[in-house]
Amino acid sequence: MKTIGLLGGMSWESTVGYYRAINEGVKARLGGLHSAQIAMYSVDFDPIEKLQHAGDWDATATLLSQSAMQVQNAGADALLICTNTMHKVAPKIEAALNIPILHIADATANVLLKQGVTRVGLLGTAFTMEQDFYKGRLADQFGLDVVVPNEADRAIVHRVIYQELCLGKTDAASKREYLRIIDALAADGAEAVILGCTEIGLLVQQPDTVVPLVDTTAIHAQAAVDFILSE
Ligand code: GLU
Repeated sequence: MKTIGLLGGMSWESTVGYYRAINEGVKARLGGLHSAQIAMYSVDFDPIEKLQHAGDWDATATLLSQSAMQVQNAGADALLICTNTMHKVAPKIEAALNIPILHIADATANVLLKQGVTRVGLLGTAFTMEQDFYKGRLADQFGLDVVVPNEADRAIVHRVIYQELCLGKTDAASKREYLRIIDALAADGAEAVILGCTEIGLLVQQPDTVVPLVDTTAIHAQAAVDFILSE
């Protein structure tokens, strides 16, 4: 069995889901008392979040590279960065390592392509919805046509992530807003909607809507299970 490295804590509310899903995935495949070999570094999210909103991505890359190296030193064979947003600095983190990063957008795109989806909606932080490191990768490397909410709705999605979901709060009014925004993306031609923030699955799940949802936390965790059990 290979060892997967997790760079978590962004936020820890979603890292809990990764830990559970990866262990459940390995148990489902191997049975009995089997569980996943995991090396994890869980950061303090507060300084990371402040640097993000100050636009100091280089400083976040330096901090996360140091943490990722600890995960590598603990014996990980590959690394998951357990947040969509911080994949903005994935190239810098990967450059500091000898082990590969299993990229969350690649795992997600592969699932979408298997489903035959060509036009997809994207929910996430403003960084993820507005900048090119994520949308651009989906378009350029996988040929996906990515649609995002309008400016006012992007602000709602972003605020709920940082002021509610990352603090462990799920609010019924926020859930209604997310479902309205998901419907708007579908009306704009999205055949599926990416929950492109690892906490969104804590608020909305597939039974809440007829629009197909693609949960990046679940997909990324499954990619980890496949890696752990690969030859
Ligand atoms: N977990 C979130 C994501 O997947 C947001 C928190 C962060 O900024 O890392 O993007």
